[in-house]
Amino acid sequence: MPHSEYLLELKNIRKWFPIDQGIIQNYLRRKNPATLRAVDDVSICIRHGEVFGLVGESGSGKTTIGRLALRLIDPTRGTVVFDGEDLSELSPNELRQKRRKMQVIFQDPHASLNPRMTIGDAISHPLEIHQPERLENKKDIILDVLERVGLIPPENYIDKYPHQISGGQRQRIVIARALVTQPELILADEPIAMADVSVRVLLLELMRKLKDEFNLTYLYITHDLATAKYICDRIGILYLGRLVEVGNLDQVYTNPLHPYTQALLEAVPVPDPEFRRTKPLPRGEIPSPINPPSGCHFHPRCPIAQERCSKEEPRLRELGTEHTVACHFAEKFL
Ligand code: SF4
Repeated sequence: MPHSEYLLELKNIRKWFPIDQGIIQNYLRRKNPATLRAVDDVSICIRHGEVFGLVGESGSGKTTIGRLALRLIDPTRGTVVFDGEDLSELSPNELRQKRRKMQVIFQDPHASLNPRMTIGDAISHPLEIHQPERLENKKDIILDVLERVGLIPPENYIDKYPHQISGGQRQRIVIARALVTQPELILADEPIAMADVSVRVLLLELMRKLKDEFNLTYLYITHDLATAKYICDRIGILYLGRLVEVGNLDQVYTNPLHPYTQALLEAVPVPDPEFRRTKPLPRGEIPSPINPPSGCHFHPRCPIAQERCSKEEPRLRELGTEHTVACHFAEKFL
């Protein structure tokens, strides 16, 4: 039985990295050292069986949040709670046991698989670390999980090396390796970004099928709002380390209340040469997280920014059932 309504809770998580600017700059800035504010006071609660999408441009902090969620790195501030237990209070041994329940699918299957390991060895490796008691049935377990990720007949794959199969098949192996320890939470960090376009939908369909079969919860990290819609139940939009909008699919895609979410949706490519955009895309590039803009981080690019925006940080406010937005003027879009 779950301990809590939520499988994963990130509570006011912050991750700031100190920046080494050389001896002279470090000395001059000793009272106010430069920091990269990768994640700034982010709170996310993910229910059992839910697919929560974290969407943002590169540099928004989404991958850092994923690593914090699995406690692969420690937060500067805030807590990570997994199934009711604060991960910072667990001993190294208890944390290792918890990690069996939290697995990762990374973006690049080529880099995630050891080229000298057969597929069978790669899939069984997590069992050696987390569940050695199941190694007795290793071959049956590997064949079963290969079949479940659609690599049929599984006997044809178990002794192959990663370079002997296609990119899409490699990503299926990475998914199989994540499933073999019977996890509860899967962090999927841009899991289809490196796949051919023709394979992406198949991989998303596979992830949906496996979610039901294994009763999984996903934290799905992506820069791509279009694919997030395909698999997620709720979406959080990140901008420069802060959540700016959180809502269900209908709220985020049909009635976005934050100007940045609106801009991201406007930027989704439409396969129609006659299509003309009705709203301008935001000005310029995402600024550096080392010296983020004051107040609302989005104000230099926001089409409706006012004086208050550069002075006062907008807090997330609930403007609908579980629809939260960090914008002083979001009511304008209700
Ligand atoms: Fe734009 Fe101001 Fe809202 Fe930020 S707070 S999104 S700058 S209107």
